[in-house]
Amino acid sequence: MPRCAWDDIVGQPRVTSFLRTVAEAGRVGHAYLFVGPPGGGKKTAALALACALFCGDNGCGGCPACSRIRRRVHPDVRIITPEGTAGYLKDQIDDVIHDVQLAPIEGPYKVYIFESADLFNDKAANAFLKTLEEPPADVVIILLAHTYERVIPTIASRCQVVRFRRIPPSEATAVLVAQSGADPAEAAAALAAVGGVVARARDFLASPSRRAARDVILRSLKDLSSMDEYDVLVAAKELLTAVKAPLDEVKQVQAAELAARTEFMGKGSTRSIEERHKRELTAREREGVAEVLNVAESWLRDCLTLSQGVGDLAVNIDALDAMEEVGAVITPGAAASALGAVNEARRRISYNVTPQLAVEAMLFDLREVLRCPR
Ligand SMILES: [Zn+2]
Repeated sequence: MPRCAWDDIVGQPRVTSFLRTVAEAGRVGHAYLFVGPPGGGKKTAALALACALFCGDNGCGGCPACSRIRRRVHPDVRIITPEGTAGYLKDQIDDVIHDVQLAPIEGPYKVYIFESADLFNDKAANAFLKTLEEPPADVVIILLAHTYERVIPTIASRCQVVRFRRIPPSEATAVLVAQSGADPAEAAAALAAVGGVVARARDFLASPSRRAARDVILRSLKDLSSMDEYDVLVAAKELLTAVKAPLDEVKQVQAAELAARTEFMGKGSTRSIEERHKRELTAREREGVAEVLNVAESWLRDCLTLSQGVGDLAVNIDALDAMEEVGAVITPGAAASALGAVNEARRRISYNVTPQLAVEAMLFDLREVLRCPR
């Protein structure tokens, strides 16, 4: 039996029961604002709602519509990620405004999920207001944000607000163990790598190449203090190669989708799919870099935890030996500057520095700290 789409939402009973009621009663609104801390499952919930709207069986999880929505390849369910360094581009919004007017391709609805509703600038927001207020009857817009306050008021006030609670890590780990069959240590490490989102951690555990990328960064951190300049550059290169490896898995899924579509609709109908595939690959690569940075961050936190004598809180149990060595000598100040180096890499990448350069700089900074961690 496939898991039903609603079961994907973890630890949010109020949200789940609200959305189920709305979907089952056929009373879905045209604009929702999902707010809550990262890892609360907002995007998962948005996709579950889409499944319920498209599926003949209230989000059964197994039909073609459900499975394509879950794999994020349904042509009528679009996830819109900011393409500008500081947020949504006006062009992106114009594209959506145009797209909402077109009929759905396969389903009864068109669903637009905006990943970062707090990243609309005034210009993009103003352009979007009319669409948000009165979209065509078959359009559902779902905006996601960490807090209500960070969303431009003119946008927020036009949406029904759905609040998500923070899920404690122990609860997320327990759910992931139950869903994936991983042991608790693997589950906790996977959650740390993906920023605490259970659905993403499940994908992570199922992807050998994403797990391999984690192993590469752990190995680099372990050996970093004894590396020379050349070694560091090689380590950065290896890391980027490992991050790109999972793209092959994505490409295989995409090729299958493209082949199915070509057979069904003929050549020439595939341009929009190919463009979406390109965007998916870029997003997946960014996610991969974010994952290795998350792993580096949690490894450093673990070292600090060990140095404070609360090692039972450590997450990356499979790297315990190396972390204990660092934990025996590192001071809180040194750990803080190492964590700062990871954040700096994130900041650089968000400002369009290449991941390669950002990771190189980070490894050099971390090496300085790990060589002299007092
Ligand atoms: Zn279904």
